[in-house]
Amino acid sequence: MTSLPTGSVIGILGGGQLGRMLASAAARLGFDVHILAPDEDPPAARVAARHWQAAYDDQSALDAFATACDVITYEFENIPVASVEYLVSKGAIVRPGAKSLQVSQDRLAEKRFLNEIGIQTGRYEAVDTVEDLAAALDQLGGEGLLKTRREGYDGKGQARIGAGDDLKAAHARIGEVPAILEAFVPFEREISVVIARGPDGDTTAFEPSMNDHSGGILRTSIAPCGLSADVITNATRLAETLASETGHVGVLALELFVLADGTLLANEMAPRVHNSGHWTPEACLTGQFEQHIRAVAGWPLGPVTRVFDVEMQNLLGEEALSPPESFSADTVVTLYGKRDAKPGRKMGHVVRRGRKA
Ligand code: AMP
Repeated sequence: MTSLPTGSVIGILGGGQLGRMLASAAARLGFDVHILAPDEDPPAARVAARHWQAAYDDQSALDAFATACDVITYEFENIPVASVEYLVSKGAIVRPGAKSLQVSQDRLAEKRFLNEIGIQTGRYEAVDTVEDLAAALDQLGGEGLLKTRREGYDGKGQARIGAGDDLKAAHARIGEVPAILEAFVPFEREISVVIARGPDGDTTAFEPSMNDHSGGILRTSIAPCGLSADVITNATRLAETLASETGHVGVLALELFVLADGTLLANEMAPRVHNSGHWTPEACLTGQFEQHIRAVAGWPLGPVTRVFDVEMQNLLGEEALSPPESFSADTVVTLYGKRDAKPGRKMGHVVRRGRKA
């Protein structure tokens, strides 16, 4: 495929806020967006040209979707790999492809893959049974974080384990599903690199942001991240390696722990636009959503120079009903249009901009 002409249809698998912001960016470039998502009234569908309400594995819906769309992307890493493979078998262009999805769906496969391509992680052990858990705890010094291999996000599917804890109960808490035990990483800070890769292998990486989590949920991302140029260069190289080794086309994010001596350990990857990149549209010459659309459409990637110092803050649950300072001159608010402000649910975000130091 050469560059997609404006007026073409970009299909997005997934209907959440990431799809909504991708759809808005795509519309600004003259594309029509079709959303395929099972929910009745997802945030992305309300800003898109068409909503296909169907399960991600509904083959007849996928057939019709493939025919309707010129290129298909995804905004959610738990799309079945088989669905992406099916779309490709029907002649659809799916960007990113199945490989990025496959790697990021399983924490164990992801960590092994990262290690294989030379990206260090913290120590971890596979855990399928309570006996495995006991052995893994021994290996990792008596404490760690038990995480489900699949479908955990925002701190869900995780249990902290320390000396004397009831292992059977901890295993039950995560549903006795295949898991890993991770050693606690004594990080000094957390950063992420959001990078875009085009079909020709060109990449552009946004400056890393410093990320602060609470209860496993991202609260703020700050740029600049305050690290030395060397550490930033190393972090960017790791993201470049990951993007090229997966043959990724589009945006991906690499979350990293930074140790006190500057060592970088990967936490996880996301094969999509990322919450820690939500400051980029307001602070950089090209934002992550436009960049993803450019990449999947085969357009030249835009420049990603940062022109403001920024802090992005997520609005969770009822915080979005009265966003702090939301309409002051230097603050940009984005709300996702979700109907139900459940506690801890990501409802929107604000970006506070300041003059670049
Ligand atoms: P995750 O859902 O795996 O990205 O974890 C969410 C957050 O929990 C991370 O961003 C960290 O703040 C914290 N966390 C996760 N795994 C570890 C670990 N192995 N050591 C220390 N903190 C962790």
